[in-house]
Amino acid sequence: MTDDAFAPGFKEEPWWWEAAPPRPAAAQLPETAEVLVIGGGICGLSTAIELGRAGVPALVLDREAIGWGASSRNGGAVSGAASLGRAKSNLQSAVDAALLAEMVEEAERSFEDFEALITEEGIACDWRRTGRFVGAHAPSAMATLAARADLLNRSDPGVAELVPRERLAEELPTPHYHGGLIIRRAGGLHPARYTLGLADAARRHGATLASPVEVRGVARDGNVFVVATDKGVVRARQVMVATNGYTGPATPWHRRRVIPVASYMIATEPLGAERVRTLLPQGRVYGDTKKILYYFRPSPDGERILFGGRATLRDTDVRIGALWLHRHLLHLLPQLRGTRISHGWKGNVAFALDFLPHVGMQDGIHYALGCNGSGVVTMTHLGRVAARMMLGGANRASAFARATLPGNPLYRGRPWFMPLVTGWYRLKDRMDGWRVPD
Ligand SMILES: Cc1cc2nc3c(=O)[nH]c(=O)nc-3n(C[C@H](O)[C@H](O)[C@H](O)COP(=O)(O)OP(=O)(O)OC[C@H]3O[C@@H](n4cnc5c(N)ncnc54)[C@H](O)[C@@H]3O)c2cc1C
Repeated sequence: MTDDAFAPGFKEEPWWWEAAPPRPAAAQLPETAEVLVIGGGICGLSTAIELGRAGVPALVLDREAIGWGASSRNGGAVSGAASLGRAKSNLQSAVDAALLAEMVEEAERSFEDFEALITEEGIACDWRRTGRFVGAHAPSAMATLAARADLLNRSDPGVAELVPRERLAEELPTPHYHGGLIIRRAGGLHPARYTLGLADAARRHGATLASPVEVRGVARDGNVFVVATDKGVVRARQVMVATNGYTGPATPWHRRRVIPVASYMIATEPLGAERVRTLLPQGRVYGDTKKILYYFRPSPDGERILFGGRATLRDTDVRIGALWLHRHLLHLLPQLRGTRISHGWKGNVAFALDFLPHVGMQDGIHYALGCNGSGVVTMTHLGRVAARMMLGGANRASAFARATLPGNPLYRGRPWFMPLVTGWYRLKDRMDGWRVPD
């Protein structure tokens, strides 16, 4: 590995921030709030929009700039139940078939809601329904993809299509996958523009956004919550935790129940739209079946390839993660030899101990946590569900509110086991025959 991978002027921040950097929101911190939302990402902003639409103004706090977290760093790959389908084997052991079917149905509906929200709020975020292609990293993975296609086609016939190896080049000219799966109800957006668009919509609906303001603790005083921040105290009638992979000591109950996992991304230098089209001919968003999966796509302007994955065993330096991703990108698409990278960054996703997204209430505090790596639609949806729960509406309870966020006595909020898990996952991928030369 050499530093030749880095283009001159290489930046250690999301390529997305070139067009839409997260914005501080220097609002005066009020002394009281109807609803105080901790975390100004997709989830917290979606909660604020839904509350505002019902006439309840929210106060959204973020300890960094609004949108600074995973919401403006992600791959921008969007789908409904496809990610649930991916976790199917975990889910089948965790929940019964009827609940799983309800979750799939709700996730599919949330995709429609997400598209409607973009239109209703006029959010300019380069959303395109391109479909998603999932590459099979091993011959045996085609059976897994067939089962996934079956699950998805059951709720929406024709939404998923298996692609045999003979037709792989139509989707992706790589020598390494063994076929794959097209999921049609999926696409790509510019995540930082989406998040800023949500922030603008939340403000239009009466929310106050304040950052940087760090919440230090939440206590109860009769019917109100007393929220301590680094900028003063706010008394709020309701509190919502929307901190996902950045959940910290301010909310210890939640921290002990989500595992933060760093994911890394790189952007290539501009390659030219023609070259990108030869490498990603259908212009979809892409993933694969490995345990340590890759996700990639063309940039919305079609000039670059954006490539991501869980690069290292431990949370590490962005440049180290970027070099790992660069090597793996060139292995997957050897046609890119000699290509350098202009940006590298990382962000935290959050896993619940049962691999499910959760929305609910604990000790009177609402939360929506556990995107499991796929949160653009899910957290938009769960933020909205949390708002409806606070409003006490007559909506059917969400399938994701059915189970409490589980804990485990061996986990106190420090993911000491992640290097072991990542090492084991890597070994499993190697045992399946996936090898990337050093
Ligand atoms: C590299 C990467 C790639 C991804 N790719 C995809 C993808 O392609 N498709 C997809 O659907 N999902 C993807 N995801 C997941 C997706 O980005 C997340 O699920 C989603 O953004 C979570 O949104 P959120 O609002 O819940 O959390 P976040 O956006 O992470 O926001 C949480 C916020 O809470 C704030 N906070 C934490 N503690 C405090 C405190 N004490 N006081 C005040 N504020 C606090 C943080 O500063 C942060 O801004 C990816 C994530 C990463 C990191």
